[in-house]
Amino acid sequence: MRNRSMFAHDPLNIKTYAIQQTEESLPPEQQKPESESDRLERARRYSRIRIKLTIVSTILFFAVTLLLVSLGVTRWMEDVSYGVSSSPYLALLVFAVIFGIVNSVINFPLKVYSGFILEHRFGLSNQSFIAWMWDGLKGMLVGAVIGMPILLIFYYFLRTYETNWWLPVGIIMIIFSVILARLAPTIIFPLFYKFKPLDDGELKERILKRCREAGMNVKGIFQFDMSTKTKKANAAFAGIGKAKRIILGDTLLDEFNHDEIDVVFSHELGHYKLGHIKRMMAVSIVSTMAALFIAAQLYALSIGWFGFESVTQLAALPLLTIWMGLYGLLSGPIDNWLSRRHEYKADRFALEMTGNKEAFKSTMTKLAEMNLSDPEPPRWVEVLFHSHPTIKKRIKAAEEIL
Ligand SMILES: [Zn+2]
Repeated sequence: MRNRSMFAHDPLNIKTYAIQQTEESLPPEQQKPESESDRLERARRYSRIRIKLTIVSTILFFAVTLLLVSLGVTRWMEDVSYGVSSSPYLALLVFAVIFGIVNSVINFPLKVYSGFILEHRFGLSNQSFIAWMWDGLKGMLVGAVIGMPILLIFYYFLRTYETNWWLPVGIIMIIFSVILARLAPTIIFPLFYKFKPLDDGELKERILKRCREAGMNVKGIFQFDMSTKTKKANAAFAGIGKAKRIILGDTLLDEFNHDEIDVVFSHELGHYKLGHIKRMMAVSIVSTMAALFIAAQLYALSIGWFGFESVTQLAALPLLTIWMGLYGLLSGPIDNWLSRRHEYKADRFALEMTGNKEAFKSTMTKLAEMNLSDPEPPRWVEVLFHSHPTIKKRIKAAEEIL
């Protein structure tokens, strides 16, 4: 593998990025092909670093929030917020902005490492630092636009109903997420990628034929410039109801032949036909309500621990994110377990639909290579973090089907 260890010591230097670009643009015959064992070793190292980063950032989230609350920093933020406006709702928004900025600054080094440096070190990213930062900023702004009304609605019900706020807030959050799923492909995705109708007519026909076979209506098939950001490949259904569309990353179109894309697509179609999408939505509705209910009780219980008098006190609100985060830690492995089961079933569907085991195997191998997935992670890593079975297991399961 090419030596990119310099990235670790010289993270933000544009020169380093230029070196990488030169390396990438070498003519193919000058690039030494990576041996199979080197590639596996690289995938293993990449996956292990990713897992460590996930663990570190989770611990950091809980530690920072607890420290900000217990050291009185959030009380100071509350004072500043009420200094700006005496309206509790405006003060809440100011508080959210200050809290958000403080958290972003604390998390920034880790974000840069995991989102930019690491991806470049392992040759997975095509983005310049400026473009990466710009994407992050856009993400934060989109989050703020979506989050602000929810935050205000939440605070209204918290002030009105005290511990029973979770019920109306949960219902409104669910309605919001349905609207968002409907609007995301046309409003949010284009902020990050350029979409255009799939220009490969033959492939388009093939995909439409599959949709007809499965009795599915789609609004259109689009390709998007995933390669401007990453070397990873992906395809998905986006949107719901009448807005449903198929989106294919150009990385997928460039690296996979039609038989392989057919496998990827049939797998996605499997999720739809087997009711996985509906089931996951139902699960997330129940899970959202449960999370809010449990967090509401624990939040009310815990405010006294830190000397707060009321659940509506701005300085206490970050405690709620701790309880929500803990719920997420416990429910994550269950969600992943369910998702892995769905993956096996969608794989079986794709195999039966295409009848092409060889294309299935080469697709899996290519995806694992492009995404640098660890072929054999430790069992606990799979249980805690993986929403997809390992490639090795998926190929083994396929062998047993056809
Ligand atoms: Zn899947």
